Formats: sequence, structure tokens, C-alpha cells
Amino acid sequence: MSRSQARPAINRKRTAPLPGLGRRMWGLYRTLPGPHQGLILLSLFLVLVALMLPSGKTLAARHSDPIPTHTRHDLGLSLPPSLAAAENPRLEWRPFEVRAGDSLARLFDRAGLSPQTLHAISQLPQAGQTLVKIMPGQVIELGFEGETLAALSYAIDGQRTLKVSRDESGFLETVEEKAVEKRQFFASAEITSNFWNAAVGAGLSANQIMRLAGIFGWDVDFALDIRAGDHFAVIYEQDYIEGQFVGDGDILVAEFSNQGETFRAVRYSDGNYYNETGNAMRKAFLRAPVQFNYVSSNFNPRRLHPVTGRVRPHNGTDYVAPVGTPIMAAGDGTVVASSYNQYNGHYVFIKHSNTYVTKYLHLSKRSVRKGQRVRQGQTIGKLGATGRVTGAHLHYEFLVNGVHRNPRTVKLPESRPIADSERAAFTELSEQRLAQLAHRQSILLAMEPAAQEEQP
Ligand SMILES: [Zn+2]
Repeated sequence: MSRSQARPAINRKRTAPLPGLGRRMWGLYRTLPGPHQGLILLSLFLVLVALMLPSGKTLAARHSDPIPTHTRHDLGLSLPPSLAAAENPRLEWRPFEVRAGDSLARLFDRAGLSPQTLHAISQLPQAGQTLVKIMPGQVIELGFEGETLAALSYAIDGQRTLKVSRDESGFLETVEEKAVEKRQFFASAEITSNFWNAAVGAGLSANQIMRLAGIFGWDVDFALDIRAGDHFAVIYEQDYIEGQFVGDGDILVAEFSNQGETFRAVRYSDGNYYNETGNAMRKAFLRAPVQFNYVSSNFNPRRLHPVTGRVRPHNGTDYVAPVGTPIMAAGDGTVVASSYNQYNGHYVFIKHSNTYVTKYLHLSKRSVRKGQRVRQGQTIGKLGATGRVTGAHLHYEFLVNGVHRNPRTVKLPESRPIADSERAAFTELSEQRLAQLAHRQSILLAMEPAAQEEQP
């Protein structure tokens, strides 16, 4: 049994009827703006949980709900006057579905249009580019004035529509973009079994989970170092067009507590993440050269070595994952060895500076050669079971001035701070975002209905 599974996705299905509420209450509820509905549902949920649980203290912080501060990014382009004329009621619009094997020429031919018209449309930069990529099942709307083509409308994707119209001088085109609404959501969870389950339970998509792990991947080894009691909180965006969810947006601010140490990250307008003091989250080395979701038992504090059966017996860290799991370069550097021997199997060594060398052993496949420059995160090979092993795993070594160190705890060079010219703006944004995150967490912890009513 998992509370996380019983948890309704409030942010997605806000209008689900509530059993037990009177018809009048329901009617009243439905007249409320979405965010208020969400808050009411949240309150009800929290009360229900509080009633069901033996102790309020254990209220699971699995939680995801909308934040009623939407920002609208209107990307819509207004129609030029001549195109507005295309909306004229004398036009007769007829839909033409693209069939298997169709080209624009064949479709136009079916519509009784001349090669000259086809040529004229194809000469338009946007139309020429998009209409060569039409796919079966798509629809091109053709607007006729008598027998003459006067307008064309084609939905390029969920957001953009190509509009062509005709005036005295010929065809004109524009691409209309629907407004994307950015909605903010808050999610947090305490990890009890593993990070993935906790994040799913908190309402994060697979995509957002990997992004969240990516943001903290220079500080936390998500494959081996996550423990019960670790927790996270995040405010993220989702994109909506005309009220429909169309995709994940950015993580705006996040906090991750790992074994008692708390990391915070704020997204700045340059697309990068910085901690509260303005140092980049991106650092010279990833804590783990394997993405955590590949690692089979990433919640086992007593990891047995696949050969000796002992716990962490040697100068390295072992990641047990399926053969073929991509292995990443932990940092930028130069490949100083890419070879095979009977002990290491296929192995790759990377020199990152005069100080640091990383080593990757037992690979099933190497994808770099000696002397090659590699970037952090670049795939250098695939995990395997070559050399003296009894099971598939990556044996990873981290050397500082020739001495083996634990890559997950070793002190590493400070990351780059934000540019001086950006610092003031970042600090302002950072304080605002972190306050927002703290506020959401305090609401969750306090569980006081009054605190929730404060929300606009
Ligand atoms: Zn090993």
C-alpha cells in the first residue's frame, strides 16, 4: 500500500466531483477559479489524511499542487490587415486530408488547383518549408472564392498555424502562435523507498524527475547516496495552450536534502542553475558517471561487491546496472587510455587536469579512443561485465594527484560564480524564489487552514 498511489493528481483533474459534498456546495465549488478549487481539494485532502493517520507528524509530504500565480506568455502574432480580410464570410472553406503518399502537388491537384497556384504557395518561405512536410492524417483547409484559392490554413503543430491569404499583389503568409500559459506547481516529498518513487508520488513526470536529478547531479550521487529521510521541494512550470497541458516547463527553484545536507538551486534567465550564493550548480565533476535510474538497487546502504561479496572493499565505487547502460565522462578531459586487459576488461581512463584522473572499468563497449577530448556527460562507453568480474557493473575510480579518493565525498574545486553584472538581478530573483519555496513548505508543514486561505 502506498499513500502516494492513492494521492489524486490535483493539478490535472481539478474538476473531479467530490463524493459526500452536497449539490449546492458542489455548485459553489465549481464557480470558484481553478486555483481555489485546487486549494479546497488540497485542504480536504490534508484533513482526510490527518484523520486517517495515527499521528499528524507522519503526514507524508507527498504533495503537488498548483500555485495560483500564473504568468502568461503571449506569443500570439496579430494578423496583418490583408490577412484579416481572409476571414471574410464569402470564403468557402473546404478541408483536405493528407493521404498516404500525398505531396502538396497531389493534394492541390485533387482540390482542382493549378500548378501556378501550387508554385506561388511553394515560393512563400514558411509555407514552402512546412507544406513539404505534410503527413497523412493532417488537414489543410483551403478557402475558395469561386474557383480561386484565396486562403489556406494548416496547423503545423499544437501551437502554430500557417495562414495564407491572397490580396491584389499575390499570396501573403503568417504563422499564428497560440499563447502558451505557464502554470506553476509545487511538489515536495520525503524519500522513504527511493527517489524515483517519491518523485512520482509527488506528481513529477519522468522528464521532470531526470531534470531535478540533473540539477543536483554535481552535488548528490543519486545512484548510491540517497537515503530514507532525504527530501526535496520544487516549484516547476507546465505549459498549457487553451487550457490543455502540452508539456513540461522549467524547474524554477528546487531544494534537495541529502543525508542532512541541503542544496538549493535557482534557475536564472540564462537557463543555468545557481545556488543561493550565486555559484553555478554545474561543477567540474558529476558525482556519478551513471544516471541513477539505471542503477538496479540504488537504495541499499550495504552494497556488496559483485566479485568479493564485501562492502566497498577497494579503491573505487561499483555501480550495478544492466549491461549496455551508458557511462558518462564525469568531467571534461582527455582520454589517456582506452583499451582492454584481462583484469579491467574494456576500460577508459580520462585525465581532467594535472590533478584529476577518472577510470571506468569492465565496459562492454568503448566509444572513445586514446587522445580524444571528451565533454562532461558525454557517453564514453557502455556498462559491461568484461575482465575479472562475476557480474555486470561499472567500477569507477577517482584519483586526485594519483591518490584514490571517494568521488562522492571528495572536496572539489569551487564552481564559477554568476557574473558580477548579473549578481544583483540574480540575488533579487533568488530571494524571491527561495521565499516562495519556503512559504509553500511552511504551509505544508503547518497544515493550518488559515494559512492556506491567505492565498490569493
Ligand atoms: Zn569494483
